[in-house]
Amino acid sequence: MTYPLRYPDAQFIPAYVGNHGPRSMIGADIRRIVVHIAQGGTINGLIAWFKDPKAKVSSHFAIAQDGEVVQFVELDTVAWAEAAYNETSISIEHVGFTGHQLTGPQLAASLKLIRWLSHEFDVPAKRTASPDIPGVIGHGELGVLGGNHPDCPGAPILSQLTHVLSADQPPHTLDPPTKETAVKLPFTVAQLKVFVAEAGALFVYVNDFVKADHITGTPLIWLNAAAAIVTAVSHSVNKVAAKKTT
Ligand SMILES: [Zn+2]
Repeated sequence: MTYPLRYPDAQFIPAYVGNHGPRSMIGADIRRIVVHIAQGGTINGLIAWFKDPKAKVSSHFAIAQDGEVVQFVELDTVAWAEAAYNETSISIEHVGFTGHQLTGPQLAASLKLIRWLSHEFDVPAKRTASPDIPGVIGHGELGVLGGNHPDCPGAPILSQLTHVLSADQPPHTLDPPTKETAVKLPFTVAQLKVFVAEAGALFVYVNDFVKADHITGTPLIWLNAAAAIVTAVSHSVNKVAAKKTT
């Protein structure tokens, strides 16, 4: 299996060579995408830590609160972040603290990266709470064998990811609409576009869902998918708005 070593939308800043393993990862063996929280407020702090020979840890990726993505370790190389699970995992750090949510742009960037990794490594872009089931898992869910970090990344971030990943089904995997209904949209296409713009272009699939509103008798299945997206997006918009006023 050949696969890319770097994510095209990340800035590559290599970790210190003694903070990660050798080039030994086999793409077909990648079983999970592990989500972490950095317990730090800036991406620069994380960059400095992974470059520090004393650290003895690393992550493939980190995502800043403005959505910037940095890659530290190439994808054929073992990052040191999950103890016994290092060799079968790809790691994503997030700037911030346990008990908080990801910001809207951070969540959007994380989802985009998760979707890309899922495609390249054939790991489901779905939440799992078990290390034995391939998918997207929190570091703490790996238990003692994963390094025993039960608060990483914390319940609010895991529930955010669970929510958006369950709503985030690419259109081609939806069943084709079997009947048309006269259900009225609870929002206009213009409103949907505003939600998405304010949340930082969360879903590339939105355009496909939006098409559903251009015809009379909108297929219910598309409506439900669009409504789920709007819920996820407006949730993160509200969070961003709340943050700005405090
Ligand atoms: Zn962690």
